[in-house]
Amino acid sequence: AGDSADYDREVDSVCPYCGVGCQIKFKVKDNKIKYVEGIDGPANENRLCVKGRFGFDYINHPHRLTKPLIRREDAPAKGLNVDPGNLMTHFREATWEEALDAAAGGLARLRDQKGPYVAGFGSAKCSNEEAYLFQKLIRQGFGHNNVDHCTRLCHASSVSALIENVGSGAVTATFNEIKNADVAIVIGCNPIENHPVAATYFKQFAKRGGKLIVMDPRGVGLGRFATHRLQFKAGGDVSMLNAIMHAIVEEELYDADYIAQFTENWEAMKEHLKGFSPEKMAPICGIEPDALRAAARTFAAGKAGMIFWGMGVSQHIHGTDNARCLINLALMTGNVGKPGAGLHPLRGQNNVQGASDAGLIPMFLPDYQSVMDDGVRSAFTEVWQSEDFSNEKGLTVVEIMHAIHDGDIRGMYILGENPAMSDPDVDHARAALAKLEHLVVQDIFLTETANYADVILPSSAWYEKSGTVTNTNRQVQMGRPVCTPPGEAKEDWWIEVELAKRLGLNWAYDHPSQVFAEMKLNMGSLDNITWERLERTAVTYPSLSPEDPGQPIVFGDGFPRAEGRASFRPADVIPPDETPDADYPMVLITGRQLEHWHTGSMTRRSKVLDAVEPEANCSMHPKTLSALGVAPGEYVELSTRRGTVTVMARADRAVAEDNVFLPFAYVEAAANILTNAALDPYGKIPEFKYSAVKVAKASAP
Ligand code: SF4
Repeated sequence: AGDSADYDREVDSVCPYCGVGCQIKFKVKDNKIKYVEGIDGPANENRLCVKGRFGFDYINHPHRLTKPLIRREDAPAKGLNVDPGNLMTHFREATWEEALDAAAGGLARLRDQKGPYVAGFGSAKCSNEEAYLFQKLIRQGFGHNNVDHCTRLCHASSVSALIENVGSGAVTATFNEIKNADVAIVIGCNPIENHPVAATYFKQFAKRGGKLIVMDPRGVGLGRFATHRLQFKAGGDVSMLNAIMHAIVEEELYDADYIAQFTENWEAMKEHLKGFSPEKMAPICGIEPDALRAAARTFAAGKAGMIFWGMGVSQHIHGTDNARCLINLALMTGNVGKPGAGLHPLRGQNNVQGASDAGLIPMFLPDYQSVMDDGVRSAFTEVWQSEDFSNEKGLTVVEIMHAIHDGDIRGMYILGENPAMSDPDVDHARAALAKLEHLVVQDIFLTETANYADVILPSSAWYEKSGTVTNTNRQVQMGRPVCTPPGEAKEDWWIEVELAKRLGLNWAYDHPSQVFAEMKLNMGSLDNITWERLERTAVTYPSLSPEDPGQPIVFGDGFPRAEGRASFRPADVIPPDETPDADYPMVLITGRQLEHWHTGSMTRRSKVLDAVEPEANCSMHPKTLSALGVAPGEYVELSTRRGTVTVMARADRAVAEDNVFLPFAYVEAAANILTNAALDPYGKIPEFKYSAVKVAKASAP
């Protein structure tokens, strides 16, 4: 708290962390944020969590990149070996002119050799306009679709199932719509830690008598508010959900009218479910048949029900099947397209919805329009006044790392992503980055990925940008610059434009509003949404008129598919890619913590957040620790077939006795050294949520 003497400016903008998209009033003095207050945004109604309230000071950290850097010719071999406090052992400072010429020149050289050889990772931490420009730069500048971003690591499987089953990859209802629900399922997510403001709505729902069904292999905190708490076995999701749907069919609790009017493939779905009785599935999912039937009755009895899910659902080789099951469950109970009902994958990063909408994915142009459709490509190249580009889907995040090892990708442009921490089997990814002939990294800190760069371009934090951002609710909001970037750092869109010009592209943007205007030409989702309107207020897409604040609920009158019908897609039970055995007898689950954000580059440089959680840690059941002879606070060695990390152990009764939970924000015990790069065949998302692991007592590292 403070008074007006503590600040000389107030700026309204949006939180840079999670997909909830809380609106914040920043109190600024001498170009520094002094403190913040939550304001009445559509998603947060004045509420904030600890990250939004205290996590802004990383922008003033001495590690901020303030000048362009070029790798020195006499630098040591590339590796995770640059001291962020002493960059000049590996890099030298350069002018913007020199750095941009070197960055673009290296990429152009590879383009002009036999292959395109170049791939790009854009960022869900950038604005919609910056995401749009990034995908345009790769497609127009290199002629192919090798462009992706972190959606591949969080909800690609959910989007894949949603597009297939209901015809659209975004949520069908805002999370705030739970106010009108009387039953809700929250599965495979830990919103109290990862979407804390959304969790406040879930808790209020339960307190006023809403029936809350919480399903997760961990006993997540929201379970305290649940009427049904299903702590299923890791990897048992499809068996559990099919058993619940079996019970709904068996007891004829489904919504026959809704199914007849709005869906297809119901008979095949019913037939499929016959093989998944609760009795048969109980040993696989670890939930007793009575509990499965009780949850089925509660959900089906609700007049309006919502289903929320997170990366516990999506990050499996059966992630798309998991999401299909949830969609099937909503459809058979008629829970789409009415108040208090809907499907809602809780999106992770502040702009992962917007970056995906803007086409930062290898199979889709903006608004999920297929790159394989000639008419779609020509609509874009007409606006871009450029030649056609490849009609083949590009490579996804993990596929790009494999392609580097195979010599098919030799250069990369990485903006605000950190694959040297975030990729599965990360030693494989780090070796790939070291192999690149030319790596351009654009970021605010020397991330682990920037350790491998040939050219580093210093960019701006979210608090230093102009641009729009789209939250998990499909709400498009205006991000305003609160401070100016430090030193010579620049806004990302400016850097993208300068690189594009040096790649010979016809770009002439002076402001992100011009980019937004161009996006609207081929993005129907932005109809009736203008930059000027967003300056005044947030708008939820779709907006049906210039006055319509937008539609919190969609598909009340049918789906954007043939004949307006959604489709049931049966899912079979398939085992995880690797299962525990005598050598690796336990299951490793990775995830986030309340105070730390993704690869830690921001929150570990934020004083308050890092003070609360300063050290890498893992959690195990007290009985498991006791059997290992490890006291809480002592250290354990976690080993999988990919590698080993040593980390401090905590006791947590919420973790199943044969599981280990490991947060992925800590470079000193990088969780992804351990994870499995096996992919879901549809969404191409890795199986972060299930690796076979062995645990042994260790000394402090
Ligand atoms: Fe920021 Fe998410 Fe917390 Fe809101 S809930 S303040 S958007 S991190």
